[in-house]
Amino acid sequence: MQFDQIFSSRNARMKASEIRELLKLLDQPDIISFAGGIPDSALFPTDEFAEAFKNALTPERQAMALQYSVSEGYMPLREWIVGEMAKIGIVCDPVNVLITSGSQQALDYLGKLFLTPGDTALVGWPTYLGALAAFNAYEPRYDRLSLKGKRTAESYAAGAAEAGSAVKFAYLSPDFANPTGETLDRTCRLQLLELAEVLGCAIIEDAAYQSLRYDGEAVPPVLALELEQKGSLEDCRTVYCGTFSKTLAPGVRIGWAVAAKPVISQMVLLKQAADLHTSTVNQMAVHAVAEACFDAHVEQLHAVYQRRRDVMLAALEEHMPEGVDWTRPEGGMFVWMTMPDGADGARLLARSLETEKVAFVPGQAFFADDSGQNTMRLSFSNSNHAAIKEGIARLGRLLRSV
Ligand code: PMP
Repeated sequence: MQFDQIFSSRNARMKASEIRELLKLLDQPDIISFAGGIPDSALFPTDEFAEAFKNALTPERQAMALQYSVSEGYMPLREWIVGEMAKIGIVCDPVNVLITSGSQQALDYLGKLFLTPGDTALVGWPTYLGALAAFNAYEPRYDRLSLKGKRTAESYAAGAAEAGSAVKFAYLSPDFANPTGETLDRTCRLQLLELAEVLGCAIIEDAAYQSLRYDGEAVPPVLALELEQKGSLEDCRTVYCGTFSKTLAPGVRIGWAVAAKPVISQMVLLKQAADLHTSTVNQMAVHAVAEACFDAHVEQLHAVYQRRRDVMLAALEEHMPEGVDWTRPEGGMFVWMTMPDGADGARLLARSLETEKVAFVPGQAFFADDSGQNTMRLSFSNSNHAAIKEGIARLGRLLRSV
């Protein structure tokens, strides 16, 4: 059976990347991996989760925990999120909150909600590759979202018009972005709001790493700044996507979206059609764990990840040859490295795995136009200090030898 002949056209945009295939080789224990952008499982609040699941499954609560439930999400968790959002300037109501299976699902729904094939999505060059994967299924045209440059709203609009397209949203991760680790300052956030206003498009604010700030001063979320300008969430064009994956644990798959009611109502319909609702027992457990220890737990993560970041930055300083540059993130999990023009991250990875046993993600995967060959993403969240020092020393040796 030639299944590919009957697959829908959208599948043509959804290919397994060569890089992902390479990264499958990373399970070997002798490899030092800076590739996976994942939290350290040793830091999960496991005892709290064990207690929370046990409590969710008592005779009084098991019917709620294990039965079908509402698509919007478990109300106590939505209320807890409303409280957290208020702390960062996003005053909302539970009707503005949809619980999703990780923020990845919110990205998928937002692609489905906004994109007709050929519509324009503005994304960073580079941007989170999982967002590109989610949006690709809806066959968009991408244009480069460039807030530090001189691109005007008119240039985005003209580019879209020329392609017979309309700009539907700008997607970005303003704090400690995946993959660059960079944070957008307040001026750029305001500029983004102005741009979206002129273009009449939505903003998708992916806040996956927002809680993981180790130093420097917090910048208000884009949605908080917009709310400050407009006074009511119902007038805001920004959709905020949060997740417990980086703070509590990714395996429970609990994220959320906050937006004006028409957006949330439509996302609820998409959720009903896709998976009815997010796992209730997991939502109940996450709610209980968050109530029990969220702030203290996040504080503990800060201490560990901050030191790992510092060790990585110091090692890069010590071992990288001339001509190599990297970001100095104030939070999150990633350092983004730029090598001289002509360097090829994918080829370097193959060589690195063979000769130095160090893994990273070649940067090209994060570019909608396949550029960025001379870049790579290094994650510091899941390696101990000795491994970070040794891995960066080996990487420096490799880069000096090419
Ligand atoms: N956004 C960004 C920027 C991410 O890095 C990730 C996870 N790698 C996600 C969203 C998705 O995370 P989750 O679905 O686990 O919430």
